[in-house]
Amino acid sequence: MLQQDEFMNLSKMSFDVSEEQSLILDQVDRVCKEIRPIEDECYLQRRINDRVRPVFSKAHLLGLPVSRKYGDGQGADMVTYALAIERVGREGTGLRTFFSVHMALCEMTVQHWGSEEQKDRYLTPATRGDSIFAFGLTEPNAGSDPASLTTYFEESGGKFLLTGQKMWISLGSTADRVLVFAYPKGKKEGMCGFIVDTKSPGFRAELIRHKLGLPTADTSTLYLDRVEVPKEDMLGPRGKGMSVALSGLMNGRLSVAAGCVGVMQDCLDEAVRYAGVRVQHGKPIGRHQLVQRHIGLMSTNLEAARLLLLEAAFTKQKYEESPRSAELRDATDIAISKAKYFAANASFDAANRAVQVFGANGYTFESRPARHLADTRVTMIYEGTNEIMEQKIALGALGKDFAAYS
Ligand SMILES: Cc1cc2nc3c(=O)[nH]c(=O)nc-3n(C[C@H](O)[C@H](O)[C@H](O)COP(=O)(O)OP(=O)(O)OC[C@H]3O[C@@H](n4cnc5c(N)ncnc54)[C@H](O)[C@@H]3O)c2cc1C
Repeated sequence: MLQQDEFMNLSKMSFDVSEEQSLILDQVDRVCKEIRPIEDECYLQRRINDRVRPVFSKAHLLGLPVSRKYGDGQGADMVTYALAIERVGREGTGLRTFFSVHMALCEMTVQHWGSEEQKDRYLTPATRGDSIFAFGLTEPNAGSDPASLTTYFEESGGKFLLTGQKMWISLGSTADRVLVFAYPKGKKEGMCGFIVDTKSPGFRAELIRHKLGLPTADTSTLYLDRVEVPKEDMLGPRGKGMSVALSGLMNGRLSVAAGCVGVMQDCLDEAVRYAGVRVQHGKPIGRHQLVQRHIGLMSTNLEAARLLLLEAAFTKQKYEESPRSAELRDATDIAISKAKYFAANASFDAANRAVQVFGANGYTFESRPARHLADTRVTMIYEGTNEIMEQKIALGALGKDFAAYS
């Protein structure tokens, strides 16, 4: 007999937020409230929100998942990190993209793969917002198949020289450093990762305009013409660039999933609020059963997405604690893919339903549902399209022998 109580509780699972988590989440909430009017204004003017860096760095929130050894690193575990990004996601996918790229795709990747010297030199200022990261994998002809990229490096005078073009790079025009992936010149194997200084001669960034959504976020094309990178700025072991990139994408997907849960929460909150005040046929529309159906579905999907997110974050945390376990890595990859896949689709559905509840008042970017509808669409594309996620998840069930490509 383990205990004398009438019932046993042997479960380790807890959905309660601890006191320490509350402190961090309250701080994130406060800063999100501070940034909202700025983000609103930028959205309607369709200009990049350049206040994200100063506002969040002042609150010491740009190194959330980074060890306390480095600068403003907060040492947050993956569940706390996911809950924080969920809160940011409520403010919009444009704002949340900043965190996914700087912290998940880049800081966490440098933390995992970087040398101690690289961490001191690049991670420390990044956590303080003194230096912002971007992640340069995609190219005009290499998206879902990053192995087909053509950016290459040469070695000369003890340095690397990088040449090529990267496309659809978030924060590309504002970042101070970009993680760039390239092959040795003339080869299609042995990909390497590099930390590239965007002020280097030969580096140029150009904003991509007329996007469907994310008007407040910087998305850019990068041009590299024999950009010099010091020998010590190769990231990860030589030839392991693909593993570096894939581990970054895994972190990024967790962050996308969290952001989508935040979008769903905001859509639900907005729909509930509006359904309570908008009167048609003599009563608030929230009393009409077909409107209730939208709200019931949004609420159910939100809980399902949040549970998948928490499971993915828990699994990722276990993997963080045993980074050599290939089994945990694969389990994490699948759990995160499921969370991202489900939350991306469900957030688009939630935004669509929220627009429907708002009627014409949801057909203007003055309303939050309209912005979410335009902005969350990208989550079915970036950091692994829906189709790539479906294949990954299916292979988790079928086994790797069923892979359509390597
Ligand atoms: C706003 C925005 C921000 C971005 N930020 C970044 C960033 O910061 N860094 C970065 O490196 N990249 C970034 N990307 C790029 C993004 O990761 C790619 O767009 C994504 O990987 C898909 O590549 P693609 O667009 O070239 O589509 P493609 O790979 O050309 O795919 C086109 C279609 O074909 C499908 N498809 C492709 N291969 C298969 C297959 N084997 N089986 C079934 N279907 C398949 C896809 O699912 C998709 O539906 C960003 C993109 C956007 C839109």
